[in-house]
Amino acid sequence: MDIFDQAQELERLDRESALIRSKSALDTGGPEWINGVACCRECSDPIPPRRLEALPGVGLCLACQQEREV
Ligand SMILES: [Zn+2]
Repeated sequence: MDIFDQAQELERLDRESALIRSKSALDTGGPEWINGVACCRECSDPIPPRRLEALPGVGLCLACQQEREV
C-alpha cells in the first residue's frame, strides 16, 4: 500500500477515534475474540485490525457502531 494513502487513512481513523471518544455511545468492552480474530459483539463480523488499533477497546464493527450512533 502507498505510504501516503496509509498516512491519510490513519489520519482519518484518528479523527474518527476522537469523534467517537467524545460520544458516550462508545462501547469500550472490547471485541469478541473468535479463534484469535477480533469480532464485532453485535454481528460477529471480524473487526479490521486498523480499526482496533485506532480505537482500542472497540467492540463493534463500523456498521454496528454507526447504527448505535443514529
Ligand atoms: Zn457489527
